[in-house]
Amino acid sequence: MTKTLFIGLDGATFTVLDELTSDLPGVGVTMPFLKKFMEKGARAKLRSTPNPLTPPAWVSIMTGRSPGHHGIFDFIRAEENRGKIYFTLYDSRDIKTETIWSIASRQNQSAVALNFPITAPPRSINGSLVPGFVPWKHLRRNMVPPELYDRLKTLDDFNPKELAWDFDREKQALEDLGEEGTESWVAYHLPREGQWYRIAEFLLNEDNPDLMAVMFDGVDKIQHQAWAFLDPALLKKEPSAYEQRMRELCLKYFRELDTYIEGLVTQAGPDVQVFMASDHGFTSTTEVLRINTFLHQKGYLHWNETDDSEYSKRREDSNFANVDWDKTLAYCRTPSSNGITIRVAQEPGDPGIPPAEYESFRDGLIKDLESLVDEETGERIITDILKREDYFPGDYMDHAADLTLVLRDHGFVSIRNLEPVVMPRDVPAGTHHPDGVFLAGGKGIAEGVEIDRLDIIDVAPTLLYSMGLAVPEDFEGSVPTSFFSPEHLRFKPVKIKGQTLSVTDGDAEIEEISEDEKDKIMEQLKMLGYME
Ligand SMILES: [Zn+2]
Repeated sequence: MTKTLFIGLDGATFTVLDELTSDLPGVGVTMPFLKKFMEKGARAKLRSTPNPLTPPAWVSIMTGRSPGHHGIFDFIRAEENRGKIYFTLYDSRDIKTETIWSIASRQNQSAVALNFPITAPPRSINGSLVPGFVPWKHLRRNMVPPELYDRLKTLDDFNPKELAWDFDREKQALEDLGEEGTESWVAYHLPREGQWYRIAEFLLNEDNPDLMAVMFDGVDKIQHQAWAFLDPALLKKEPSAYEQRMRELCLKYFRELDTYIEGLVTQAGPDVQVFMASDHGFTSTTEVLRINTFLHQKGYLHWNETDDSEYSKRREDSNFANVDWDKTLAYCRTPSSNGITIRVAQEPGDPGIPPAEYESFRDGLIKDLESLVDEETGERIITDILKREDYFPGDYMDHAADLTLVLRDHGFVSIRNLEPVVMPRDVPAGTHHPDGVFLAGGKGIAEGVEIDRLDIIDVAPTLLYSMGLAVPEDFEGSVPTSFFSPEHLRFKPVKIKGQTLSVTDGDAEIEEISEDEKDKIMEQLKMLGYME
């Protein structure tokens, strides 16, 4: 029998879930199952990775390790070589630590993992894996075991195009979709979640894995595009017809999600322990910070002089084409990183600062970043400036930006060469908040408790403990024992023993994603605001 059911909800946040689980006038309870589940179970806020971003945060959930150890920092890795920026998509080969499904598998436990990011190309596990965020053409080759695709094909309404990121349908999608575009884009996530649900249900019933883990990412996607219709603080008293339709569509999504959660929890049986977690929360961003413009004004980043010729205009389409790489000392590569890279010269004569000046240069840069304030209130725009050795210690610390910025509205920076440096948004947009959710319910779970905020690296040890496995000594988090009943803990004390294993390359036949498909993924990331 399945011991542990884990439901991932990308971007789920208590500000929205608490509203959707309460009885609203004229609406009722949108998520009645979740309401009961939350009342009977345990809950805590869950602090995300220092940059609360989907890939590093989910990988921390999957591995019990922080980004400096597991090696994933972003959707894309941006590298600079001789003044050119190269973007590559992170994939599972970049994860340098063991996943919980691997840890469970080598202890003869079975696992199913569905729709988690950065799981392609897959490593073999004792069970089944379908990667998330993969173009549909690549799904067959990236499933574990290889024959899984043919098993899933026997499902009546199995549709790989609906399951994956369906890029064809989103070709028209750019940052501003317009009303119609936004509406159809939100609607498109409803059948997609249905596909993941049916696969989860099928494998749960047929295979009874010890650990059943499935992630629903529509929560995040919808909140990105339709935040104004979900944040209780932004709902209008007298919405337009379009606004009303959008609100209804969002509620429909969450109503269906509630039935999927109910279906999985019910079918997993009365003895299962259920956990739900999000990789980060959500909140409103109200302004745009053009970080590279600021760095230019402070003399860290230099642009080449341009004229009006066609050539210069073309170059201006790229955020980096006009950077003067001989003079630039610090700049930001991607909005999603919220990070500043300091250029350190490798050889005398190279552009960048001499290694010996790194600390003093960085201290000066931090002072400048702190000096950026709201002219009216005097409040700092950048509220936290994280040094990588403090927040990303580990073998892969060097892959992190030198400084990671936390903005006062939790927004992602813009890297465009535009003025002014700080610009208010016309309407608030959805962005990631560092506090996600962690919920538990079922046999042996403490009833009706809310505990202090937990950390994202606490999820993996919790899931292993729930399966009856020891927590590896090199895990950085711990089991939140107050999630469990005293009786459960008495009979099943937490064991901390052994180490995770070093990882080897995946054994699936690796099918590199084509340039064309890579471009489509980049386009999708642009639409969500992670790329510009
Ligand atoms: Zn996310």
